[in-house]
Amino acid sequence: MVVKEIIYKHLSSTSISEFYEGEYWPSQIWNCMRKQYYSRISPIPQTLDSAKITILGTIIHEFIADILKKEENIKVMSEVPVRIPHPSDNIVITGRADDIILVSVGRTRYVIEVKTVEDVEEKKLKRYIPKKEHRAQLNLYLKAFPNSKGILLYVDRGNFEIEEFEVEFDQDLYNETVKRVEDLHNYLMRKTLPSAEAKNNPEMRWQCDYCDYRAKCEREDKH
Ligand code: SF4
Repeated sequence: MVVKEIIYKHLSSTSISEFYEGEYWPSQIWNCMRKQYYSRISPIPQTLDSAKITILGTIIHEFIADILKKEENIKVMSEVPVRIPHPSDNIVITGRADDIILVSVGRTRYVIEVKTVEDVEEKKLKRYIPKKEHRAQLNLYLKAFPNSKGILLYVDRGNFEIEEFEVEFDQDLYNETVKRVEDLHNYLMRKTLPSAEAKNNPEMRWQCDYCDYRAKCEREDKH
């Protein structure tokens, strides 16, 4: 019990992310619009349950990057700064590409995004993966690293089964993503709460199960 408490204490002490006005992160743009709004206007620390999922994702991501680094003919780059152009002067899509793995094999560059999920095989059979949100995030990185090939790698949290999907750059999806950033920016500037996007969209509803703002969101809709 002593060790468990120490580990959970450290997991629970994650700090609140700091955002700068007009700066948006590729890894968050396809999160539920209302959740993003809350996380910027009235942020709360991550719950222990979501910290557990985050840490597992980070560990698996680092493990896969370390394995790829062992291959002689593969070059792995990490913590590469990313800045994606946006038509509006007030908005920047920026971040550090530490949630992707950049790999060069000869003259070909791959942008790999690792996602951890439960029951990967069942999700593939039911065509729940690749998720649009995940494709859209990788699509942004493909914009930042043109002429690269995209790979979405789903890893099962329970048994380490892996499914791989190749992703091509999609201009329509990119435009849709840029529009989302503008919409979020406008909600924030006007201090207007967006609708409960994930709750109202069957394809995004899974996000509510992992949302730290769920209680607040439900209270809001009862008003
Ligand atoms: S509970 Fe669902 S709809 Fe509400 S903010 Fe969270 S993800 Fe969005």
